Amino acid sequence: MIPFLDLKSMNLQIEEEIKEAMNRFIQSGWYVLGKEVESFEREFAAYCGTEHCIGVANGLDALMLILKGYGIKEGDEVIVPSNTYIASILAISMVGATPVLVEPDLRTYNIDPEEIQNKITNKTKAILIVHLYGRVCEIDPIREIAKRNRLKIIEDCAQSHGVQYNQKRAGSLGDAAGFSFYPGKNLGALGDAGAVTTDDGDLAIRLRALRNYGSLKKYENVEKGFNSRLDEIQAAVLRVKLKYLEEGNQRRREIANFYLQHIQNPKITLPDLPLDELQHVWHLFVVRCPDRQHLSEHLLERHIQTLIHYPIPPHKQEAYLEWKDHSYPISERIHREVLSLPISPVMELTQAEAVVKAINEY
Ligand SMILES: *Cc1c(COP(=O)(O)O)cnc(C)c1O
Repeated sequence: MIPFLDLKSMNLQIEEEIKEAMNRFIQSGWYVLGKEVESFEREFAAYCGTEHCIGVANGLDALMLILKGYGIKEGDEVIVPSNTYIASILAISMVGATPVLVEPDLRTYNIDPEEIQNKITNKTKAILIVHLYGRVCEIDPIREIAKRNRLKIIEDCAQSHGVQYNQKRAGSLGDAAGFSFYPGKNLGALGDAGAVTTDDGDLAIRLRALRNYGSLKKYENVEKGFNSRLDEIQAAVLRVKLKYLEEGNQRRREIANFYLQHIQNPKITLPDLPLDELQHVWHLFVVRCPDRQHLSEHLLERHIQTLIHYPIPPHKQEAYLEWKDHSYPISERIHREVLSLPISPVMELTQAEAVVKAINEY
């Protein structure tokens, strides 16, 4: 079987280093908000090219805390793509604000900058962009719209660790960015973890309080905060794994290029390759096929595991019944047709060859 993602062998490749880090962690005798989190925050900020990094409990919290930190609340509107993982939208709901969905560009799967302006009202406070599947958003036109309307740009970088746009990395392209280090992400911990990156010093101070009960000094609470800290043990693991992120992303690009060069089947739409290869980190390699169910069965018969990202569009979820009559045809089409092929830093070329062969035979 060619697994969709072999997390175990990814982590076993650096097992010794991870064990060393865990040992250091146990020996330290300090288990929450200590040296590992501080060091990881410094190292990850340097990697992303931002002034600040604030470790938090997960990616959803990272986005929610940014919105909270900017004072976005009930009655405010936040623009967000109609095709994204539900967490991008949940973060907006969590602070009581209203998510306003904007359709994607079918070529890039990212929010269509041309559609944003139409959805802006006097209640709009921010644009939450998602670099979906690892492809960076077309940021220049979005910046222009944000500037013209005085909106914050918040990046959801849960699928795009390390991706670049004109030599700047995701995480440094807007006002603030939320990262997830869920195990399957390009930079993944051994459990839940997340972070915010930003150049905004005021926001950084506020987030350090918000993640820790609203407190900067023990037992003094400046506001009603949360408990959403990055664990020391996860920070220790992430410091090891950060060293291998570039290499892992480059390996993903090799697999993606191999697929793009060799998959030839008129029934299948391949993802668009950006002109600058650094604009994609291939968290997922997503193809479209009108009969994707049949395609996935065909591949499974040939021992190739695939997944769907994602089967139900956010506006069709029971959790968002208020949108049940809304129509987002591009997003609906994407959700109906997409299928994700295996891709990861530990995938062998022979495995990619087998995938290509099976798809070309379909
Ligand atoms: C994974 C993911 C999140 C949520 O991150 P968690 O750490 O699981 O909370 C948010 N947005 C996108 C696009 C994601 O893929």
